[in-house]
Formats: sequence, structure tokens, C-alpha cells
Amino acid sequence: MSQLLRFDELSLSEEVQQAVTEMGFETASPIQSEAIPFILEGRDVIGQAQTGTGKTAAFGIPMIEKVVAFDKFVQGLILCPTRELAMQVTEEIKKLSKFKKGVWVTTVFGGDSIERQIKSLKAGANIVVGTPGRVIDLIERRALKLEQVKMVVLDEADEMLDMGFREDIESILQETPEERQTIFFSATMSKPIMALTSRYQVEPKLVKVVKNEITNVNIEQLYFDVKGRAKMEVMTRLIDFYGLKLMLVFCNQKKKVDEVVEELQLRGYAAEGLHGDLRQQQRTNVMAKFRSGVVNILVATDVAARGLDVDNVDAVFNFDIPLDEEYYVHRIGRTGRAGKSGRAFTFVVGSERNRLREIMNYTKVKIDKGVIPTFTDVVGVKKGMFIERVKSMIEEGDLELFEDVLENLHHGGFSTEQVVSALVKMNMGVVKNEFADENLSGEFERGGRNDRFGGRDSRGGDRGGERGGRFERRGSDSRDSRGGDRGGRFERSGGDREARAPREDRGERAPRVDKAGKPYRKDPNMVRMFVNIGHSEKISPANIVGAFAGESGIPGNVLGQIDIFDKYSFVDVPKEYATTVLNRMEGAAIKGKKVNVEIAKPA
Ligand code: AMP
Repeated sequence: MSQLLRFDELSLSEEVQQAVTEMGFETASPIQSEAIPFILEGRDVIGQAQTGTGKTAAFGIPMIEKVVAFDKFVQGLILCPTRELAMQVTEEIKKLSKFKKGVWVTTVFGGDSIERQIKSLKAGANIVVGTPGRVIDLIERRALKLEQVKMVVLDEADEMLDMGFREDIESILQETPEERQTIFFSATMSKPIMALTSRYQVEPKLVKVVKNEITNVNIEQLYFDVKGRAKMEVMTRLIDFYGLKLMLVFCNQKKKVDEVVEELQLRGYAAEGLHGDLRQQQRTNVMAKFRSGVVNILVATDVAARGLDVDNVDAVFNFDIPLDEEYYVHRIGRTGRAGKSGRAFTFVVGSERNRLREIMNYTKVKIDKGVIPTFTDVVGVKKGMFIERVKSMIEEGDLELFEDVLENLHHGGFSTEQVVSALVKMNMGVVKNEFADENLSGEFERGGRNDRFGGRDSRGGDRGGERGGRFERRGSDSRDSRGGDRGGRFERSGGDREARAPREDRGERAPRVDKAGKPYRKDPNMVRMFVNIGHSEKISPANIVGAFAGESGIPGNVLGQIDIFDKYSFVDVPKEYATTVLNRMEGAAIKGKKVNVEIAKPA
């Protein structure tokens, strides 16, 4: 594995160190280990890295370190191709700068109220994340001043060039001081990128992660296209369906390890976690339990699993797709040992498909798409196992002592079928269908948190049309019929930009979107409810589903779209359950906090 640095080896401030610890990062990812020292040194850097490798923190951490706190002018500028990416980058930078007081981040992008953005700039943002078209607009309106910028980052530079932002980017760079530090991040190093770097960077340092070749044998590798919140359900279905005995589950963050362990234990699986926060003694105990079979699922981060030497692991789950290709190889190398066969299952959410492609390119192995077992498949397998166990129990004999039980129940008026069914249920535990089968796969889901590469995706071409254009566009095609008749959610450029007032100014309400920019689509069969609890209370959709279903007695899987914001959330409840939910949720608590649930006001 390439030389990975611990964050405490990176000479970070205490505030940033505290943030990465809170975010559950265990070591710097390869691109971070390579890039952060150079950027901190003040060098111009070209980082060749894709999304999902930790690239945001690779430039975000040094930028936060370099911002002079409480100075109310723009010191760091990050340009992103899409508003989704801009929002995502902003979120990551906010988390990373949580403990450094006086760092103010704001996001500017097309399709949203420019007045609001001007206000937040005036309030004194010192880091601005934005899409090129809107940045230009704001410069022209004198609302965004870049004379004091110390660092400019072009995130997904290749994507921005592909989208026709070259001119805008150049105009923006010309607004910034010449002595600024310029950082490019790009998945590819095309000629136009190189031309841009030679014009705007000074002796740039190229950082990319060098990999070794590897091969894997005896391992059946499958990936599953899943919705993020369905990962646990899919994993437990696979465990049951394949009758897996000994498993390793990999997550990217420590806190995810804890969450996954807790959820598995709640569902009745013998799971334990392994991560860097454990003392040696605890680690030894966990390992002993795993080796002896007391615990059959070990959930770990990449670092914690180093040096782990266990045979007979029959499956490795990449609960989170790994941050680095080489991690993938190390992870799955834990199974299929000593000539035995093994399985490696990788969960892919939204545009993580691009990461998967990278992994396949790197390992030179085709990872096939797996089929998620249906609920009926899983119950079928469990029943089959039960029947086998009953058969062998009968063959063993010594049953005379219990023969009067059935007779006794017959006398009570129960049929043999009823008795057997009750015994099966007792034996298999409560078998719950947590999700409808069709709600597990992310295949048809568009616009999720990670889905920001529409342009590159083979289906991306029609995406703007279908979804009303979530991408900022530039050039003549920005007037195309799709953008035009969808109410102008494209950011327009040139004269058009001036001509079009923001939606709010035209007396329209902006479409309500969730944090990832995914538009909320009203479902006529649902009632949108407002709950006064959100990310700041660290709630997850599972907490909401748990509370709504638990309190109201409605099945969890009937709930519709859930959008969690900082201080509040929205939940779609089927009309027929709306009154029950409103009544039952009165005075109810979610994660220990008493909540107020009401019908959401229309957007
Ligand atoms: P990015 O490539 O910036 O989109 O990051 C992908 C995901 O990895 C984000 O959810 C980050 O919060 C997470 N991440 C970034 N750096 C690390 C790290 N060193 N360890 C674990 N997770 C990380």
C-alpha cells in the first residue's frame, strides 16, 4: 500500500485535527497524503484524482489552514462544474472547519436566488465555493471581489472544460492576484488541462497515486447498485441468502463502523467492530471472538484491518466503496485464501459507478453486477435450511419425549399446519421485510447525493431533459428547449445571464430541493410532513422511519421521500396514514428529542 500518513503527521492545526477525528477519518487517503504537504508548503499542485478518493479534503484542509480567520474578504475560491458538487464541497469544508472559528464558507451557483448569495457574500465569506457562470455574474455585479484571494482551486477541472467553462474560468483567474496559489484537481490530464495549467500555474507539482499491479483468483466479485439507505438491508439479505458464515465488512470511517455494528447487532447478527480507536487489548478480544466464531461478522476500517490474518473468511463486503483502488485489493484479498473460494460484494451508490470503473481498470478484473435477492428468495432459503435441520433432527431420533406436544395442540383446536408454521416462525425469528424489493436498487434513482456526473454517465445525455436540467450550462445550448421550458434552472451565460432575473424575482418559487440538490417531487398520494429535527441532532432517515413506524404502527416501507436539513426534515407520509401519524407523533421523541410533527407548508 502506498505510504499513508496519519493526520497527526501532517502538521495540522488542532482545530482541523479535531474535525477530521470527529468525521471519523482514520488516516489520510493516498491523494491526501500526497497533496496536502505540497499545498501547505504553498506549491501549485495538479492532483489527478477522482471523486470518492478524498480529494475534497485534499485541497479543503490546506485551504482552511491558510485562511486568516475572521478576515472578512474572500481568501479561498473553489470552482466546481455543478451545483451539486459545489454544495457537497461546501458541506465537507464546513465540517472540516467546524472547530476553526472565523472561517466562513458560502456557496454560489446558478438557479438560486442571487440576492441571497450576495447577502451571504456581504456577510463576510472568506471561502467561496461556486460554479463559474454564477461567479462571473457576481463579479460583474461587484458583489464578489477576488483581489485578496490567496488560493484558487479548480475542482473537476476536466469536467468544467468539457462543459464549456474555459472562458469563464480564465476570466475568473484573471480577477485574482498573480501571486495566488493555484490548485487543479482533475480525473484526467488532457491536453486542454495541461494548456491551462501552463498558463496559470507556476511549476506545478503533479500528484497522483502510483499503484502496483495485482491479480485476484478464487474470488467471485460482484457489485450491487443500491440506494444508500438500503445498504444494510441488502447486506443482511445477501448474508442470509448465501448462508455466509464468516465475513469482513469494510467501511471508510470509524463512526460508520460503529453504526454498522450497532445495526447488525440490532438485527440479531453477531458483529463486532475494529477500528483505530480500540486499545490493543480490546482489539485482541475482538479478534479472539472472530477467530473462535463467537462473532462471525467483523466490521472494520482499512487501517484497522491491516495485518489481519484470518482464514476461512467466506465473504468481504465493501459496505462503502473504497477510497483507493489498492484498498479494494487489500480488502478482498482477505477472502479466497488457501485455495478456498470467496466472495467480494461491493455496494455502489449513484455515481460511485465511476469509482467502480476505476477499480476494474486497476485490477483488470471485470466485476459483475449482482442481483439483490428478493424478500421471497431470502425467506425461501431460510425455509429450506429449516427443513433440512428438521429432517436431520428426525433422523437423529430420540423424539419420543416430545410426541405428545402435537396431540396436545390438536386438542386445543390447532391444525398441524398452524403448529408447524408457528414453530418455523419461532425458529427463524421475526422475519421482517424492511424494504420493498423495488426500493433497494439505486439503478433508477437519479440525482442522489453522489449523482453528480450526469454528463459522463452513459445515461447522462437525457438527464437534463428528464430532470429539468440540474447542470449549469454555458454557451448556445443553454437556450435549448429543455432549459427553456423547465423554468430556467440552468445557469445562463452571456447576454442571457443578464436578461433572466432569478426565479424568485419573476414571482416564482424556487423548486424545493434537498441538500444534494435533488428536486422534491410532489407525490399526490403523499402528505409532506415537517419535523423539527435535522442533521444538527445527527438523525438519519432510519431514525425517522423508526420513530414514525414505531409510534404510529404503520409499516416503515410505506414512507416516501425523506429530506433531512440542518434543523428540520421533511417526510412523505401516505395520505391514508396522515392522521394516524399526526396523532401518534404528538409528544413523541426521536433520538431522545421531543419533536413536533406537522403538515409542511406548501413550497
Ligand atoms: P471526495 O473524494 O472528496 O468526494 O470524498 C469521498 C468521501 O470520503 C467523503 O464522504 C469524505 O468525507 C470521505 N473521506 C475523505 N477523506 C477521508 C479519509 N481520510 N478517511 C475516510 N473517509 C474520507
